[in-house]
Amino acid sequence: MKKLISIYPGTFDPVTYGHLDIIKRASDLFDKVIVTIAVNPNKKPLFSIEERIEMLINELTSIKNAEVDSFSGLLVKYAEEKKADVIVRGLRAISDFEYEFQMSLTNRKMSPAINTIFMMPSEKYSFLNSSLVRELASFNADVKDFVPENVNNKLKEKFSR
Ligand code: ADP
Repeated sequence: MKKLISIYPGTFDPVTYGHLDIIKRASDLFDKVIVTIAVNPNKKPLFSIEERIEMLINELTSIKNAEVDSFSGLLVKYAEEKKADVIVRGLRAISDFEYEFQMSLTNRKMSPAINTIFMMPSEKYSFLNSSLVRELASFNADVKDFVPENVNNKLKEKFSR
């Protein structure tokens, strides 16, 4: 039987329990999940690509069919290069819907063979995003309920400088 390859693109600045929830669900459904960091020259991330890759690899050691990568340029082009069948996206509260709807239909127009699948995280993460985590951490608030310990430590290091 054909092996199904999925890609889960995002900024992951930094990875949160919400992202990890989606990655786990995707890894149960697909033969492979490529978690890939979108390099966007217009954004100024808190963590470098290398730091984000390292944090993701660290959290995904127990998910054997997950791998970490990065890409720049068009997502569908990258997906075709990776021979991916599916793009996975997480859907939080309704705020994600409009943007994701537009993106997935645009991607389908450019690459009709690749489907986008949306997954909802556990409700306890459905309000969570990385910018909230960065903002809280910048005020020295404890974000241990939102990110893994290693990521929490990295945030503390960044903001103690
Ligand atoms: P953000 O900076 O908003 O956290 P990313 O660009 O890193 O987002 O997100 C990558 C993907 O993960 C997107 O599909 C986004 O909707 C999804 N995602 C991010 N946080 C969560 C969460 N808490 N629950 C479910 N999906 C999420």
